[in-house]
Amino acid sequence: MVHIKSAHEIEKMAAAGRIVAAVLLSISKQVRPGISTADLDATARDLIGQSGGTPSFLGYGQPPFPAAICASIDAEVVHGIPSPNRILQEGSIISIDVGVYLDGYHADAARTFAVGQIPPAVAKLVQTAQTCFWQGLAMAWPGNRLGDLSAAVQAHAERQGYGVVRELTGHGIGRHLHEEPDLPNFGRAGHGLRLETGMVLAMEPMINLGTRRVLMQDDGWTIVTADNKPSAHYENTFAVTDDGPKVLTTWPGEQPA
Ligand code: MG
Repeated sequence: MVHIKSAHEIEKMAAAGRIVAAVLLSISKQVRPGISTADLDATARDLIGQSGGTPSFLGYGQPPFPAAICASIDAEVVHGIPSPNRILQEGSIISIDVGVYLDGYHADAARTFAVGQIPPAVAKLVQTAQTCFWQGLAMAWPGNRLGDLSAAVQAHAERQGYGVVRELTGHGIGRHLHEEPDLPNFGRAGHGLRLETGMVLAMEPMINLGTRRVLMQDDGWTIVTADNKPSAHYENTFAVTDDGPKVLTTWPGEQPA
């Protein structure tokens, strides 16, 4: 069932979301050639710990996820496991996904960052994943349907010839990291669950430069593109309100696009 949140609960989720955003902002300044994904994970653990929260992802699932962030480089779509052996290289992209649990509630967001200078075609992919989110979000008003969001995301990506990952979706979020409903990045406008004030969702377009098809690596977590071309990921947690969508995981001054 879909849990509808009170304004008080949404405020608590916003507090968790501010920590998520602070982690992403801090990591955005740290990303550069030569740094390891374990270093970025350490930053997240420190900041989350100092803020009184706990990492939502650490110990999640089966096999238990071993880190506070997912760090997914280039053809890795999502769920990359941080490692001291994964050193960022000039020209790569890296998606950082982080969840924070605070005072009984989770918040979850992801950004894809450039490592140094990246090819223009990859920069466009990264920008598109972000724009897909904001185009989907623009549909997140009470009375609209989930398919309105999904279709907006899909249309913006496919218009440019990109693959939209189907095996993984956004999700409801609250007392649990993953709640009902699923929020796919593809679908039909006018179909699906009707949005209501108090729903809180994480929407997370995963957009591939090539094929939409993905594979799972032997570690049981890392999802990669089937053609080894790059993939970009962008996610925010947001609440549906009478005044429209309220995003809970952007940092002050961050520019939506
Ligand atoms: Mg998520």
